[in-house]
Amino acid sequence: MPVPLPSERLEALHSALLAWFARYARDLPWRRTRDPYRILVSEIMLQQTQVERVIPKYHAFLAAFPTLERLAGAPTAEVIRLWAGLGYNRRAVNLQRTARTVVEEHGGDFPREVATLRRLPGVGPYTAGAVACFAFEQDVAFLDTNIRRVLRRVCIGPDDVAGAVRDRELLALGAALVPPGRGWAWNQALIELGALVCTAASPACPRCPLRPDCRAYAARAAADEALVGAMAAGVHPPAARRIAERPSEPYAGSRRWYRGRAIDALRALSPGSALLLAELGLRLKPDYGPADEPWLRGLVADLDRDGLLVFENERVRLP
Ligand code: SF4
Repeated sequence: MPVPLPSERLEALHSALLAWFARYARDLPWRRTRDPYRILVSEIMLQQTQVERVIPKYHAFLAAFPTLERLAGAPTAEVIRLWAGLGYNRRAVNLQRTARTVVEEHGGDFPREVATLRRLPGVGPYTAGAVACFAFEQDVAFLDTNIRRVLRRVCIGPDDVAGAVRDRELLALGAALVPPGRGWAWNQALIELGALVCTAASPACPRCPLRPDCRAYAARAAADEALVGAMAAGVHPPAARRIAERPSEPYAGSRRWYRGRAIDALRALSPGSALLLAELGLRLKPDYGPADEPWLRGLVADLDRDGLLVFENERVRLP
């Protein structure tokens, strides 16, 4: 079980990170609002997409659907069309399902509690925590990729050690760190530090405000000292260790890639139009033939089940 940081260091840790955030934070549009609908849209978009790509899509989406009610009442095909360029189209369908649930079951008022937010379609622990914190300014802890990495390094140690600690334990450590009344800034700051300084491949420790309390940094500094000592004694140094980036999966040609191409093909049609199954096949694979049909039917059935398209009478269209 990981050991919490000593309580006497907490105040210094809070001051250091919050001061760094106040000075270096990017001015992002979703940081200027506390509207839970806008926060939800940004959080869903940011889940799999980089900030620079999200910003124009965020503005375009909110221009088309400025309120929860407008999104809830829109044709799903329109929502999927607006999602073009963001990938993981299922997020668009889930976002609209959430909007419809809030309108139909909560009278259009967003739930404030994490447990209630969790019951909304497609809302996982991260999104529920993010909406509770970034819209309603609750002092809650939650984990996304950036927060997880920063907390692991600061509270536990180097990546190879920290990787063994489970999220439940990490979340408990993270909850103990949230400064009362400053949860919004604290969680934004952790995300920002993970994006700008404590990155996965090359953490910029020399300019990190958390360095004095970071266990990963302390371990690395101790290892470096040992290395310098060994070299001074004439011992052949071990190969430098690097923080390895996970090899990325081949994407083109994967099932996810074909799912995206299928939705792109339907988006390109005029509203209400449909494609015959074989026509869709030819748009996905120039050499599409009868042998590919079972594969295509499986792909289309999955997308239909996810609410991303409708397959009826051997024709495929957006919902
Ligand atoms: S000191 Fe380095 S490893 Fe630790 S939180 Fe900062 S950037 Fe990350």
